[in-house]
Order: sequence, then structure tokens, then C-alpha cells
Amino acid sequence: MGLDAVAAFAVDTLGGASMGTTWSVRLLAPGRDLRRLHAVVESELARVVAQMSNWDPDSDISRFNRASAGSWHRLPNDFWNVLDRALSIAEASDGAFDPTVGPIVDAWGFGPPGRTADLERQQCGNLAARIGWRRMQRRPQDQSILQPGDLQLDLCAIAKGYAVDLVVACLRDEGVASALVEIGGELYGYGRRADGKPWRVLVDDDGDDEPCVVELDRRAIASSGDRWHHREDADGQRLSHSIDPRLGRPAADAPHLVSVLAEDAMQADAWATALMVMGARKGFDFACGKGLAARFVDREGRECATPSFAAVLAC
Ligand code: AMP
Ligand code: MG
Repeated sequence: MGLDAVAAFAVDTLGGASMGTTWSVRLLAPGRDLRRLHAVVESELARVVAQMSNWDPDSDISRFNRASAGSWHRLPNDFWNVLDRALSIAEASDGAFDPTVGPIVDAWGFGPPGRTADLERQQCGNLAARIGWRRMQRRPQDQSILQPGDLQLDLCAIAKGYAVDLVVACLRDEGVASALVEIGGELYGYGRRADGKPWRVLVDDDGDDEPCVVELDRRAIASSGDRWHHREDADGQRLSHSIDPRLGRPAADAPHLVSVLAEDAMQADAWATALMVMGARKGFDFACGKGLAARFVDREGRECATPSFAAVLAC
């Protein structure tokens, strides 16, 4: 094989840190200016952070969260689109997913540092009055939302997925024919690898003889779990960072890991969180009923996949 042919098959990798995590892109883009592609990706991610990061006090979302009661706020397109999808999923999940869950996230210590307010846990009753996606009022004609007072948005459960979709769209615009995009464990793959096959991803390696591998051919996979993000309470009990907004506390029956396949990463991300909150049993029945492709691992390590997830297992 000549050198040019080898170059045509080479997988290039880009990577960096953003959104409180790391990102990577694997791509087949012979002859491309990788530095330029890297800069394009970083600028997409910076836009998401500037609009939707609760960790950046100057972001649009942080400003909205601090705003006074009765004020209307015009949102930039990305923020508006993500909120729109978040509210649809809130409705479809019967409030298991709720973008207004921010105060409870903070109260249980999963918010930005400095906003950890364990004491507020005593007042969860009061917090409940501040939560509820139905409190959200939107004005589509000028893409604005109302701050009714003390409403605190948190899009952490969906924004990473959205950022993956944005990166995919910009790579496609750049003419990249094949890529696997990953941000903090949420992935989307399209196109073919050098061997003509779709990108393959190991979802979860628990040491079983049957590793869970899926092919991402114009498809996303996102996972939620307590493996990386959890705290322990005073009694040493594991507290999940998936909050049940209806109970005002970490989901009690949260599985160990939920992975969702979907046609875009925003959807996969949000549903993985929603199913986590519903718990292994209820979440599984719900996912089957809705035709969602989901795989659950419970706290005892038992796995189960919905029929539409099982259908795409590559192994
Ligand atoms: P993920 O890792 O995608 O499941 O997102 C978890 C993050 O989403 C948490 O750290 C919270 O900031 C936020 N979150 C927690 N519970 C919920 C919920 N029920 N609905 C929406 N966002 C949530
Ligand atoms: Mg999520």
C-alpha cells in the first residue's frame, strides 16, 4: 500500500476539555487542516457554555436564574432550542425530567461549588414550590421566557448531548465524511471507518463474557449513572445526582447505569437522565412502552435491554 493510501485510511483524533469534562473527535479526514477543525469544535462548545452553563456566572442561564421576578429574557437560538426539547421531554416523562430542578440539585450538593447548600435540605418543602416545568412561560414571537421569581434552570442533563449534535453538524458542514464525536461519555457516530464498517463503541465493560458493543451509524448513545457522579450521605448511603423533582431528593431507585440510543444525542442524553430518575423497573417498562432503545444495569449488576436496544447490539 502506498503512503497516500495509508493516509486515506488514517483516523485522526482531536480532543480537549470543555463543559466540565473532556471531549474527543475521531475522524477520517485525509488532508484536512486539523488545527482548523479543532478551533471550529472549540468555538461550538464555547457557545454552549456561554449560554447554558450553570458553572459560568456570566452565562445566559446564570443571568436568567438570578433575574428578578416578572422579567422577560430573550434567549439565543441554542438555549431556546434546548429548552424547548427539555420541556417536551419533561411532559413526555411526566416530570421525571425537569429543567427547573436546579434548586434541588444545589441543595443536595450537586451544583457548582459555592452553591452547595446542604442546610437548605431542611427546607425541601419550600424548595418544592420553586420547582416545576409548568411554571415556565414562553413567548415564541420574540423567543423569550419569563422569570416568575426564584425559578432556576438546569440544563446539565441535556446540554452535553446537544453539544455533541452541534459538533456533528459543524463537522458535516466542513465536509468531514466520517466521525465519532464524544463529550463526557455521550457519543454520536456517522460515516464509515477505514474498513468500511460503522464506528463501534463499548458501552459498558463489567468484565462479563458478553461485552456490550453497539454500532453508531448515524446514531447517538448517552449514559447516566452514579458510577462517576454521586455523594454519600452521613450514613454512607449513596446519593445519586439524578434528582427526582417530584420528591425533591435524589432518586431512590436509581439504577447503576442507563444507556439510551437515539437518532440524536440531545434526545439520548435527556432520556437517559429521565429513565435514571424513574428507576430500573418503572424506567424499563416506560422505555418499552415508548419504544425507547435503553439498557439498564441495576445496583446488583443485573442488566436488561429493551427490545429496540437489544436489536442493535453488535456482539
Ligand atoms: P446526566 O448525567 O445527563 O444524567 O445529568 C445529570 C445532571 O442533570 C445533574 O447533575 C443535574 O444537574 C441535572 N439533573 C438531575 N436530575 C435531573 C432531572 N430529574 N431532570 C433534569 N435534570 C436533572
Ligand atoms: Mg442526561
